[in-house]
Amino acid sequence: MARLDATVDKLSAYLAIPAISCEPEHADDVRALAVKIKDDLAALGMDECQVLEIPGTLPIVTAEWMNAGPDAPIVLVYGHLDLQPVAGEVWHTPPHEATRIGDRLYARGSADDMGGWVSHIAALEAWLAQTGTLPVNLKVVIEGEEEIGSPNLERYMDAFPHQFEADVMVLTDCENPSTEIPGLTVSLRGLLEVELKVSALDADVHSGLWGGMVPDVSIALMKLINRLTDDDGRMSIGRVDVPEDWRTAAWDTPITIDVIEKGAHIIEGVSALPDRGIPPAEWMWRQPSLTVVATTLPTLAIKKNALRQQASATLSIRLAPGQTGAEMLAALEAVLLVDPPGGVKIELIQDGWASEGWLYEPKGPAFDAADRAYERAWGAKLARVGVGGSIPFVALFGNRFGDLPLILNGVMDPETTAHGPNESMHLGIFEKAIRANIYLFDELGALGKAGVTGE
Ligand SMILES: [Zn+2]
Repeated sequence: MARLDATVDKLSAYLAIPAISCEPEHADDVRALAVKIKDDLAALGMDECQVLEIPGTLPIVTAEWMNAGPDAPIVLVYGHLDLQPVAGEVWHTPPHEATRIGDRLYARGSADDMGGWVSHIAALEAWLAQTGTLPVNLKVVIEGEEEIGSPNLERYMDAFPHQFEADVMVLTDCENPSTEIPGLTVSLRGLLEVELKVSALDADVHSGLWGGMVPDVSIALMKLINRLTDDDGRMSIGRVDVPEDWRTAAWDTPITIDVIEKGAHIIEGVSALPDRGIPPAEWMWRQPSLTVVATTLPTLAIKKNALRQQASATLSIRLAPGQTGAEMLAALEAVLLVDPPGGVKIELIQDGWASEGWLYEPKGPAFDAADRAYERAWGAKLARVGVGGSIPFVALFGNRFGDLPLILNGVMDPETTAHGPNESMHLGIFEKAIRANIYLFDELGALGKAGVTGE
């Protein structure tokens, strides 16, 4: 398909710009990419193409094509142009040079999220090339700060309400369960970060002279963390009830032990955690989980024979969809702030990142339209899936536009390694995503504005 090659070339040009939003030295790259995208959207025939920038933030790109008339629905497509960093990672190909190997296109941002929103622009392009028109009105918002948690997206929503006014929203930054099965994301986990701090002494002291009668803060810290987990090392507090019918259906999701072991790069001789009678999809999508992301425990580099004054750990907790940070904090306090091991002083400090999860029930004609469009393109049913990660923009859209149909899709798959080295997009998925979007515009256009909104 010649047009697909041209689209991959355009995508590759975007991927050549290191638009890394968390590294201030790349702020101008984020801006340069925004301008390039804006110019391309204008060349395609979109109107009102703009790079909008609130001072002190990184920009968003907006554009619209509103020629389908007042009876056609307004579809808003959201994506992001900024990238995760690559520092410290080992890549087999240059991270900012799109490289095609077999079925996959390797580059930082290939699937997260450049390929995602480009698949919608390619659908628009195909419509205009074939018919000169589009059956829906289209608005596009491409954010420049998603990878740092969308700290200013709400300000953009406030400052530029017209750009966000729509009848149905397609938020494209998510994953498909496999290269053969398309995914519609209906839940996300939230994120709570807390520091657990243990103190005992006001100076480090000789472990030979005092060991045996003086508490070791490192051991106390590990004992406390241990209280939060079961024998498998899985978080054991804050678990939630999920509906029995959901759990039964979850056994059929394509998230199998094989997929997990391959996707998570588990080494030979080690296996995924035992499921203990709970579907793997539930453990990853619907239950909380704990990761120790930083500690001040003594390092191998400095082996000092001393009892330390204090030790801290940063606990990163994925919250079950619907679970609040306050609920989790209360559960942590109930377990950690009692019976201190060795009588140490314990503090639990929450000043880090917290974001809400997301639990959504896709119902109504817009989702029936999506089901039809995806089945036409993929030859497989659109699977309702969860994401174990936390995507702050989804809660922002959900809180503000929750009454509208919000279609969360994307071009990632379990082998994408988003946020890691050798990120890639499967080109078969990319092609099917473009086709699905072509059909989605068709189906939503056929419903009309009244049909989409149910008014
Ligand atoms: Zn993303």
